[in-house]
Amino acid sequence: MISSKGFAAKKPKAPIEPFSFERRDPLPNDVVIAIEFCGICHSDLHQVNEDWFPGIFPMVPGHEIVGRVSSVGAGVKNFKVGDLAGVGTMVDSCRACESCKMGLEQYCEVGTVLTYNARDKKGQPTYGGYSNNIVVDEAFVLKIPANLDLAAVAPLLCAGITTYSPLRHWKVGKHSKVGIVGLGGLGHMGLKFAHAFGSHVVQFTTSPKKKEDALRLGANEVVLSNDANAMQTHTASFDLILDTVSADHDLNVYINLLKRDAVHVLVGAPDRPAQVSAFPLLMKRRSLAGSGVGGMRETQEMLDFCSKHNIVSDIEIVPTTKIDEAYKRLLANDVKYRFVVDIARAAK
Ligand code: NAP
Ligand code: ZN
Ligand code: ZN
Repeated sequence: MISSKGFAAKKPKAPIEPFSFERRDPLPNDVVIAIEFCGICHSDLHQVNEDWFPGIFPMVPGHEIVGRVSSVGAGVKNFKVGDLAGVGTMVDSCRACESCKMGLEQYCEVGTVLTYNARDKKGQPTYGGYSNNIVVDEAFVLKIPANLDLAAVAPLLCAGITTYSPLRHWKVGKHSKVGIVGLGGLGHMGLKFAHAFGSHVVQFTTSPKKKEDALRLGANEVVLSNDANAMQTHTASFDLILDTVSADHDLNVYINLLKRDAVHVLVGAPDRPAQVSAFPLLMKRRSLAGSGVGGMRETQEMLDFCSKHNIVSDIEIVPTTKIDEAYKRLLANDVKYRFVVDIARAAK
């Protein structure tokens, strides 16, 4: 077994503290990664707090992982020792169902194995990236471009792909008017991508203090979502609205802003169900949809797109001793725009 030094919540809602555990010895197709940085996703907080479902504890969160390959199994073809490598929200899937065959492993019909707070095919708990190493089958390891700042690449592995994938799926481009709801970790990446795809982008926010940042990050317009008049000027005008909000909020006001046949896509995952009126949907044949991260192929495509267009996340690096403080600030909406844990420094 490989010994790992990590940081875990020992029980629901507990502080994150040092935790030693073991990972499997590398199988022939496994890559062992010495982790350098791991982003803090709001999903980490939801899961430690059991907002969605009961968790597996101790829980080592973290699914925005970047580092360098420290060893490889005998059958590994695409990675060698010293390569940059990344791991996102999943570490395995059935690989045989229709979704897996289409490169949509996140929708595996048998069950995707998530990077943490899940069980692998042998029933062992999975542990995430708040740790000094990880062992993952190479089919679930990403190539990390060398031209980008490594710490700022980490959030691309979840916040990046989660926003890139729906914008691509619904073919957002130069002629689209796109709304992004919420300027947090996911929101700021959605804004960067929609801008890079040439769309007219409107950032919706509850935070007046984020207005200047939104414009700097690529928004053509910024709308305070509690300003009913400003909201109304956009009625029936959007091709797509990407909703990244982590908490309960009114969807109907956004659905009213969609054109005929347009779509409101939920990527944010509040713990409470939303109340949606049928009328704004049926009057203009509008859709309400959801989207989960992205498959391995598309995640690599997204990383290569970021490399070419020089896109990374706006980050604040935090030491491993300050993960709890970062959680509190994330909940208080005080992050610009992703916390990234400096794992390598703690390991030294
Ligand atoms: P985050 O950084 O905390 O951003 C969430 C943003 O939502 C905040 O910055 C804030 O933006 C807005 N917001 C927060 N509370 C609000 C409220 N009560 N009413 C209205 N707006 C509010 O979180 P994140 O890491 O981007 O994650 C966002 C959500 O996506 C989480 O629920 C997470 O679990 C989920 N997620 C889903 C997937 C997927 O596969 N679909 C993947 C990753 C994460 P403003 O200040 O601009 O209003
Ligand atoms: Zn995430
Ligand atoms: Zn499958």
